[in-house]
Amino acid sequence: LFAIKSYNQSTAATEQSLRHSDPPPRVPNLIGGSFVNSQSSEFIDVINPATQQVVSQIPLTKNEEFKSAVSAAKQAFPSWRNTPITTRQRVMLKLQELIRRDMDKLAMNITTEQGKTLKDAQGDVFRGLEVVEHACGMASLQMGEFASNVSHGIDTYSIREPLGVCAGICPFNFPAMIPLWMFPVAVTSGNTFVLKPSEKDPGASMILAELAMEAGLPSGVLNVVHGTHDIVNAICDDEDVKAISFVGSNTAGMHIYARASAKGKRVQSNMGAKNHGIVMPDASVDATMNALVAAGFGAAGQRCMALSTVVFVGDPKEWENELVKRAKTLKVNAGTEPDADLGPAKDRVCKLIQSGVESGARLLLDGRDIVVPGYEQGNFVGPTILSGVTEDMECYKEEIFGPVLLCMQADSLEEAINIVNRNKYGNGAAIFTSSGVAARKFQTDIEAGQVGINVPIPVPLPFFSFTGSKASFAGDLNFYGKAGVNFYTQIKTVTQQWKDLPGGSGVSLAMPTSQ
Ligand code: NAD
Repeated sequence: LFAIKSYNQSTAATEQSLRHSDPPPRVPNLIGGSFVNSQSSEFIDVINPATQQVVSQIPLTKNEEFKSAVSAAKQAFPSWRNTPITTRQRVMLKLQELIRRDMDKLAMNITTEQGKTLKDAQGDVFRGLEVVEHACGMASLQMGEFASNVSHGIDTYSIREPLGVCAGICPFNFPAMIPLWMFPVAVTSGNTFVLKPSEKDPGASMILAELAMEAGLPSGVLNVVHGTHDIVNAICDDEDVKAISFVGSNTAGMHIYARASAKGKRVQSNMGAKNHGIVMPDASVDATMNALVAAGFGAAGQRCMALSTVVFVGDPKEWENELVKRAKTLKVNAGTEPDADLGPAKDRVCKLIQSGVESGARLLLDGRDIVVPGYEQGNFVGPTILSGVTEDMECYKEEIFGPVLLCMQADSLEEAINIVNRNKYGNGAAIFTSSGVAARKFQTDIEAGQVGINVPIPVPLPFFSFTGSKASFAGDLNFYGKAGVNFYTQIKTVTQQWKDLPGGSGVSLAMPTSQ
């Protein structure tokens, strides 16, 4: 196999590389510490959504190449798990420094491959960087418990041990943050890892893996393999993979959850969403409008915590007029342009907008026919607002994942909460109000895993966990925070006796008790 010294040497998926008309660079796998070109004959184009240019190509990695990545991770495990925790933490301390150093390069890669604006791409990296910072305290996070003298001369204590080879399967919308939710926690707690980035934007994962090696992560501890369904299925079936972290759509997530847990693996699966914001008549107009516009249209609506539905309690007319006024001021452009508020989004979005119109919703703002000068081929949709949306409409039932805000109406807070609770998803929900009583009722009665009170995108920082619920999550232990460490570790409970053993009491076959 042709081994390459660095990822940069093989491909630099940035604007510069696109100016040449050479064939697109092929993204290598990372196996056992070497960047290796796949021997596969099948490749998929990675496309810049603002220009439709091919940035690079990922291989549909062959099964034997995948097996060699798992085998490299398996071989690296014994010595990595025995590496002092302080040494493992120091790799993360160095990694956070290197991510800061290369922040602009990571952001440019994300904007080129995914489309979001450069500023938003920096946010993508930063929210992942915070998980790396948190992993620097793994020695405390991974501590067990100790109870002294539970019986005569007997102590009991628990140890959290790494599982072995873990794997991560990523979506396209956060190319840096989501890999960073996964491998830093897994490897710092002593596991080794196989990462499968999204086939749509693999570049950020490659840069991060290269930085992790520069930070001192030994060969084989982190491996990266590319592909789609086949490699995902191989990860689910492989006996040496002990746990899988997945983030993406419900179709893929439930398939992976079922297939991998049937093989006895741990799975944490973060999936789709339909996040609602309830606006009470007493909400602060300016702050609420800013929150709705930012959370509905930021990242072109391609955040799993985007606020895609707003329920106005009372008459929605004035709120909707103001919303349209503010949404119209947003600038749609390529993410690399400094004035861009929204980058490109997917075609599927337009179909769901049309189905909303056909089922009776009013189109207050239509972003479908937008043309961005200089980026005429781009995959753009402008801010779109549909009003009078009801629960039976396709545009409400399906996740749109684009810059589309659906407006609904309710006569009371109770009714608004019931609408949200009937929705199958449970990632996030927010209320905008100046009433503590309404806020407290909402917090208690709402069935969503992440609740915002006058906060539109309540994504918890890494000392908490990302706690989506209902159809937005499958598994028992959430991503990052204490739950994340528990996911990547197996608890072992030790009972020890150190005392002068009394002689002559004979053998007792009764269940030992502490009496
Ligand atoms: P996706 O499910 O299409 O792809 C995610 C990963 O799964 C990719 O690596 C892909 O190769 C693989 N995959 C896709 N279909 C598969 C199949 N049938 N069998 C096996 N593997 C398959 O998701 P996406 O479009 O990349 O990401 C957007 C989705 O992710 C949205 O639904 C969004 O809400 C969700 N998301 C959720 C969170 C969260 O934390 N809840 C965060 C980000 C994104």
